[in-house]
Amino acid sequence: MATLRQRALLLAQSRPSVTATPPSLKISDYYGESVFGTKQMKESLAPTVYKKVVEAIEKGSKIDPITAEEVSSAIKTWALSKGVTHYTHWFQPLTGSTAEKHDAFFDAHAGIEKFKGSALVQQEPDASSFPNGGIRSTFEARGYTAWDPSSPIFIFGNTLCIPTIFVAYTGEALDYKTPLLKSIEAINEASVAICQLFDRNVRKITPSLGVEQEYFVIDKALFATRPDLVMAGRSVFGHNPARGQQLEDHYFGTIPTRVKEFMMDFEIEALKLGIPVSTRHNEVAPGQFEVAPLFEEINKAVDHNQLLMDVMDKVAERHDLKVLFHEKPFAGVNGSGKHNNWSLITDTGVNLFQPSNSARENLQFLTFLVATVKAVYDYADLLRASIASAGNDYRLGANEAPPAIISVFLGSTLSGVLDELEKNGNIKIEKGDNMYMKLGISKIPEIILDNTDRNRTSPFAFTGNKFEFRAVGSQANSAGPMTVLNVIVAETLKQLAKDIDKEMSAGKEKKIAIVNVLRKYIKDSKKVRFEGDGYSEEWEKEAEKRGLSNLKSTPFALDTYLDKKSIEVFSKHNVLSHVELHARHEIMLENYIKKVQIESRVMGDLALNHIIPTAILYQNKLIENANGLQGLGLDNTAAIETIKDVSRHLESLKSNVNQMIEARKKLNKEDDIVKRAKGYSTDVKEAFFDKIRYAVDKLELLVDDESWPLVKYREMLFIK
Ligand code: ADP
Ligand code: MG
Repeated sequence: MATLRQRALLLAQSRPSVTATPPSLKISDYYGESVFGTKQMKESLAPTVYKKVVEAIEKGSKIDPITAEEVSSAIKTWALSKGVTHYTHWFQPLTGSTAEKHDAFFDAHAGIEKFKGSALVQQEPDASSFPNGGIRSTFEARGYTAWDPSSPIFIFGNTLCIPTIFVAYTGEALDYKTPLLKSIEAINEASVAICQLFDRNVRKITPSLGVEQEYFVIDKALFATRPDLVMAGRSVFGHNPARGQQLEDHYFGTIPTRVKEFMMDFEIEALKLGIPVSTRHNEVAPGQFEVAPLFEEINKAVDHNQLLMDVMDKVAERHDLKVLFHEKPFAGVNGSGKHNNWSLITDTGVNLFQPSNSARENLQFLTFLVATVKAVYDYADLLRASIASAGNDYRLGANEAPPAIISVFLGSTLSGVLDELEKNGNIKIEKGDNMYMKLGISKIPEIILDNTDRNRTSPFAFTGNKFEFRAVGSQANSAGPMTVLNVIVAETLKQLAKDIDKEMSAGKEKKIAIVNVLRKYIKDSKKVRFEGDGYSEEWEKEAEKRGLSNLKSTPFALDTYLDKKSIEVFSKHNVLSHVELHARHEIMLENYIKKVQIESRVMGDLALNHIIPTAILYQNKLIENANGLQGLGLDNTAAIETIKDVSRHLESLKSNVNQMIEARKKLNKEDDIVKRAKGYSTDVKEAFFDKIRYAVDKLELLVDDESWPLVKYREMLFIK
């Protein structure tokens, strides 16, 4: 009988491609049709009610019960007309995925469909099963979800989804969205204050985000045969294929038909949901792809990214495909990230990171640019902590991924401008001088979007009119790192405003005061700027010399969350209290331990149940063969050599798996969660994973292909 692997391979190779059919050739015909957006609200709400909702969206004002009743009634009518039967509060608990609990519109007692205003505004999900880091003891497991009107309500399948925050009854945030919304407020306040120095008309500033999402696609049947992919999201074993990404022919190459149909299909669904997907292409590794929507207001962009991942997952089913969002599903091959493109945009329509043709406006541009660089320098460890996860640890610093060292790339033009500003620190500006010319500020070209000046190896790069945080992991909820970025930039801007004030109080003219402070900030944060190859070993050494951190393992990187400096900055800006930070820290450690534990178990099980028995059977065949050869009086040295090789790897495999299990047992008795997590990193993962994998991957090369139980890399990666 054929093995599971062989049957899966046959199935995968004989799949017809499923065609995606858009509802109309014109996207505008169906874009946003599943969203209760501005158009739908205008059509179904009385003008006074509509006005109140818009106010709630723009100013964050509360929606009164009567308005809520009117809105919920309109939503119900709209949803029922679209065949929707249930509704749910849709939120982002700290598990990393999204959560929902569906309630039917139908009320059996009344015999009709109902949707009350109170059900729209607030709900009480059974929250005991969500991580809370000790904030709620299980017997008092009450938390509630509250409507976030700034993110549109949408229909997914037959369910109406209402984006909400998720908080404990005692007020602490239990989700990603709550601190993100608070951080948006913090950066708004701090940036408006700075903008007022340049333009009195600015009243509001919103961070914008465009998320480039990388992912792998493999056939569903192949996925199902790999317990490691199913349980841990990544392959713990597998020898590299003869042809990997060395040829670099996959990037921007043609997309395989099956995958292309899948992409078009999920894009259609995404567009219906108002997610502005716009680009699709192959990524560096075989089987790897990317999707990117147009940037949006940060809160919406985060929700849309979470939703997009769900949509991709569901649509893949129809195509018998499986999407892998893990940061490193295949060792030795490019990993997946989520490039977070971030900028600040004023209510007057100005992107504060857009250089302009006017030297005067460029002083404002430079102020925001320098503040961001300084923030990244001052809080590099916090930024590193914000992207820490078990999955991302495998990606950072490995093939084609930024290292765990946080640095900023600005490009030669801007680097030159900042250097000049710093160098000209002693230039005296006389009355009548053109200050901008003297300091080199007038030399900034309006467009710095030159592709030759792009450094893809930097974790945090300025890309023309935005910063791109590339070290974010592909599975991550972007709200985590974006909250940190908003807060640290807000803090730096606040400090900057104070410093400018001080200079002005000492009698300096406003422009001079600003320039003086910028010069100081440029000097102070210089070490974090790096224009070279971030993937190189030289950079690791150089970074160490500069005193920059290089924290490779999550539990160690997470320590920063509890530094005095971190606790202060979060509480000062009213984003997370120290109780919330402690809780989050604990949840992240817990999460890390679970992930490494699962991987370790999968490794052990696969080795003991699949690999070792297969290798022994093969070894027996070799022994028979060797004996047979000897019986015939022929040379059997080659056979004996192979038997020895197999034995050696089998021994090493078995002994390492046993030792790893012992290490786990010991750690599971450790009560201190920080010690346990660090132990899992050093005593389980670092001590054994590579050794075990090495033995298995060697055996894969030795054992005959036909009896090898696991689908191989070349089979998973080169999808047709
Ligand atoms: P890349 O060359 O890195 O692929 P793209 O131009 O394709 O860059 O843009 C990547 C992402 O950045 C997209 O989601 C795009 O909408 C977003 N983006 C562009 N401008 C901005 C901006 N000002 N703020 C935030 N995101 C932006
Ligand atoms: Mg990019």
